[in-house]
Amino acid sequence: MALLALVLMAGSAGVMLMLAHAGMTAHKEAVQWWAAISVGGLVVMTVMIFSGWSERLPDPSLTIVQMSWTITSGAVAYVLAGDARGVVPSVLAMILFFGTFGLSLAQVIGIGSYALFAFVVAVAAAARFNAASYTVVDTAYALMVLLVLAGSIALNLRIQSIRQRLGLQREALAQALAENRELAMRDELTGLLNRRAMLDLMLLEQRRSLRSGRPLLLALLDIDHFKPINDQHGHSTGDRALQAFTAAVRGSVRDTDVLARWGGEEFVLMLCDTRVDDGLELLDRVRGAVAQLQVLHVSETVRFTVSAGLAQHVPGETIEHTLDRADQALYTAKALGRNRVAVAPSPRPIGAASAHLRP
Ligand code: GH3
Ligand code: MG
Ligand code: MG
Repeated sequence: MALLALVLMAGSAGVMLMLAHAGMTAHKEAVQWWAAISVGGLVVMTVMIFSGWSERLPDPSLTIVQMSWTITSGAVAYVLAGDARGVVPSVLAMILFFGTFGLSLAQVIGIGSYALFAFVVAVAAAARFNAASYTVVDTAYALMVLLVLAGSIALNLRIQSIRQRLGLQREALAQALAENRELAMRDELTGLLNRRAMLDLMLLEQRRSLRSGRPLLLALLDIDHFKPINDQHGHSTGDRALQAFTAAVRGSVRDTDVLARWGGEEFVLMLCDTRVDDGLELLDRVRGAVAQLQVLHVSETVRFTVSAGLAQHVPGETIEHTLDRADQALYTAKALGRNRVAVAPSPRPIGAASAHLRP
């Protein structure tokens, strides 16, 4: 915009110089000075903008300064142009329209008022210095500037309302996007994190644990004999059992422990900064809380238990590997009669197997 203003000003100066050459203006030398100062001022502002110097100012684009400069220059041109002064109002009109797109309504009104004031002064000065009397043409020019100002304000109001609507739409879109992201991360039935979101979180905690050296525990929890609950009491009772299970587990763990629905009636519990002994104690508390649950179905009370396999993440192994070991522990808990917690044995340290193979 600064460059465009400069080019337009240089063009206008060219037109004025052409008029001066043709003898249309009263003072040729004054027009040359006017052209040099007008263009020079904008050159200085353009340099300020492009060098980044204007960044320290409240209005780094210097829009108001540039417009005031150009309007003042236009007013002086009106006085200097003599009989050819008819070219000036169109330039003033262009400046006002320029501002319409970048300024606030108050700024447009302020700049417009200044343009009107400068123009009235210019008309008076032109009549005084050019010895040309004030004519109906001057009145017509003044009216045109007034009309353009009114048009700019109307256009500015329209642009502001479009901007406001766009802003609201953008806000609504951002909110919908955030809701969508949240939905994509959660399981609908229990409201827990789903498998994909939990995997991301586990990978994050894996890196954190590697850096801090603090233990990271993963537990797989699987409801015992869940299929018969569905078969005997219906799927909706099964659903309510899953919700009651979720609430019971969340009520037994810390806020920083994360529970996720891994699939079906299988859940993953991630315990950060927890030692195996403490993890076992916590899982046993969870197991006890689940065993106390009562889900009502017609006149019957449905009760169930949970089995869990616990594994401590070993630095160097993948999260999938830790989960595999937790799964094996879960299998052991099931095989031992269910309603219990089993711990996966620590794997051989990574690299130990290959060291063993070395001759
Ligand atoms: P086990 O003690 O060996 O774990 O036996 P189980 O019956 O729990 O094991 P199985 O994996 O055979 O059964 C899981 C059942 O969970 C089967 C499926 O119908 C049920 N299930 C999975 N997801 C949902 C769900 O969202 N809602 C309901 N109501 N049932 C579900
Ligand atoms: Mg099960
Ligand atoms: Mg299962």
